[in-house]
Amino acid sequence: MTDSSGWLASVCDDALESPDGQPNLTTTETRHQSLLEQQFEGTRITPGETVSCRDCGDHLHEGRPISARACRYSDEPTYTIAAIYCAGCAPMELTETAHGRDDVLLEADMGLAMASQTHWTILIEPTVVATA
Ligand SMILES: [Zn+2]
Repeated sequence: MTDSSGWLASVCDDALESPDGQPNLTTTETRHQSLLEQQFEGTRITPGETVSCRDCGDHLHEGRPISARACRYSDEPTYTIAAIYCAGCAPMELTETAHGRDDVLLEADMGLAMASQTHWTILIEPTVVATA
């Protein structure tokens, strides 16, 4: 038996260094996105076990792929989740951006967390799609 794990690991490394469709991304931007993604890992969306898609109203459950739009005004310390979309309604880019406000569009899986005896929908493994 040959062990293929070393080969697999090197393929994964290459994939991380040159993500498809984003060949012009600089190292600085990559690091910024990675920090943003860490910041949104586990972010609470709403209390309860489901969240509604902003466009179609579909009830999204744990494990569903979702897109989240978050914004932060320049005087605020953290981002606020402004809207959640199902995979079918997910916008591909940020629109309606505003001066003095940072907007982020994320793709994530929906998770559930328990806090203060309440279920919260949360973001799992968020990926930054766009920033503005
Ligand atoms: Zn929808």
